[in-house]
Amino acid sequence: KLYNQVQDLKGNIRVYCRVRPFLPGKPIGVSTVGDLDERAISILTPSKSGKDAKKAFTFSKVFGPAASQEAVFDDTQPLIRSVLDGYNVCIFAYGQTGSGKTYTMTGPGELTKESLGVNYRALSDLFLISEQRKDTIAYEVSVQMIEIYNEQVRDLLITDGVNKKYPLKNSLYITLEIRNNTHNGVNVPNANLVPVTSTSDVIYLMNLGHKNRAVGATAMNNRSSRSHSCLTVHVQGKDLTSGSVLRGCMHLVDLAGSERVDKTEATGDRLKEAQHINRSLSALGDVISSLAQKNAHVPYRNSKLTQLLQDALGGQAKTLMFVHISPEPDALGETISTLKFAERVS
Ligand code: ADP
Ligand code: MG
Repeated sequence: KLYNQVQDLKGNIRVYCRVRPFLPGKPIGVSTVGDLDERAISILTPSKSGKDAKKAFTFSKVFGPAASQEAVFDDTQPLIRSVLDGYNVCIFAYGQTGSGKTYTMTGPGELTKESLGVNYRALSDLFLISEQRKDTIAYEVSVQMIEIYNEQVRDLLITDGVNKKYPLKNSLYITLEIRNNTHNGVNVPNANLVPVTSTSDVIYLMNLGHKNRAVGATAMNNRSSRSHSCLTVHVQGKDLTSGSVLRGCMHLVDLAGSERVDKTEATGDRLKEAQHINRSLSALGDVISSLAQKNAHVPYRNSKLTQLLQDALGGQAKTLMFVHISPEPDALGETISTLKFAERVS
């Protein structure tokens, strides 16, 4: 219901804010997050007078540090239904490294039923609803998983040579081309597109994708925070009475860390990475804010990320951005800039 109200007010773009708890084993400091309710959050910044200054931000929805994965997904669920109704959907995780993006989308390292992230829950819901509708609509679901690193697009669903169930081509080091407005909605035609029929297929493929993402990481430390990863779910539904076909797709995007890199410290590859990330995140911000303002021109062409998602951003498509915040005082600068980004896109 909240979703519909927000939808009426804001069109097809929603921004949810999630605050990570303090992590076990780390010192518990004073949180920079002050009051917090369903829709608003205030950030405390120390001032010279000794009295904290408060700045409030409002969102479609706010999740505090105690919010469960299930509660977070509850407010995401309506989007899954709309993919099956033939809409395109983008769900983003934005925030500095360590703020909980991967936790929201995938879950923690050790997954339990309770800790499964949005990706798993979305796919399992998709199968559940398509099963419920099977007497009227025949659905086919397939997935792709790609990474954007330094403005290059790479396939993450490449063969590990072990599992023969999925006939995957090996194209890890090929930079893939993006096409828009294709007839079947698949805009990275050379990335493996794998038909799936169950959540266990999806879990296998997501694990494979995570493993392949780590392969490139040996040369550079912490590669996963320096690249965007995108799990795309393509859905095709054939109406069994009329024979008409509907198509929807859902992009589940774990963005690169939004932290600014100190220009005086970063050099060489690190600086190049940082510049690519900054540019693509601001290109994303530009696209979403011009959609929110209903501008006539939407600058999709400024980054690979926005090109990739073009067909799923704007028009009838629905967008959900999770912005993530760390509670630690030393993250305050990034917290404020994350919230400013969020303000710009909502
Ligand atoms: P990011 O992907 O933004 O770099 P992670 O998702 O890896 O951040 O989160 C950093 C750490 O915090 C991980 O150990 C993760 O399990 C933990 N964490 C993040 N969000 C939560 C949360 N909502 N509840 C509990 N632990 C969390
Ligand atoms: Mg991560």
